[in-house]
Amino acid sequence: MQLQLDNVSKSYADGRTNVRAVHNVSVQVTKGEFVAVQGPSGCGKSTLLLIAGALLKPDSGQVQINGQDPYALNPDARAEFRAGKIGFVFQQFHLVPYLSVLDNVLAPALGVAGSASDVRDRGLCLIERFGLLDRILHVPSKLSTGERQRVAMARALLNEPQIILADEPTGNLDHQNADALRGYPAGSATGGGGVLLVTHDDRAVARATRVVHL
Ligand code: ADP
Repeated sequence: MQLQLDNVSKSYADGRTNVRAVHNVSVQVTKGEFVAVQGPSGCGKSTLLLIAGALLKPDSGQVQINGQDPYALNPDARAEFRAGKIGFVFQQFHLVPYLSVLDNVLAPALGVAGSASDVRDRGLCLIERFGLLDRILHVPSKLSTGERQRVAMARALLNEPQIILADEPTGNLDHQNADALRGYPAGSATGGGGVLLVTHDDRAVARATRVVHL
């Protein structure tokens, strides 16, 4: 099992009120599966991804990634675990503004052991796969939104993660680029990882192996 969330709940303290963002949600993603998460705005989709990505400890419930509870690790070990096992495509991409496409894609290798030339070869393969070879030295501000999104996807895959978590990665792409991205999760998750994708896009949902409604 790549990802297992059992009855996870999370509330945010917001002034004097408590906002219940995720309540008793269970989700499983097995090897090679492509699971879509849908639900109205504010129903807790992004919070669920943060929990699944070892970035936000739930108030209750169990998280297991590849059989391990990341929240049982100390912060340093958890960061290392995240770098090696989890690929995250954030809604706002979070690319490093002063790094080229190539260096953005290679950045996750910094925290992980491995030969520099292997890493570079993997990065170049991903850049080619996402059609960015002719943009390789551009900085993010010189890219279109769709191109930035593809850089974020390539970066998420660099360390061949067990699980890929993506927050609406195709929401603002044109159809052609959206298809190029969607072709990835169902077919060829690197190393047979699973994909958990938050999306409003019906065409992405149509390609999912399973849909979770929040
Ligand atoms: P979605 O991704 O489905 O739009 P979110 O997970 O972003 O939902 O948010 C779920 C609920 O939690 C919303 O009501 C939102 O306002 C609230 N929320 C999210 N993040 C925070 C935060 N950091 N502090 C307080 N409330 C938050």
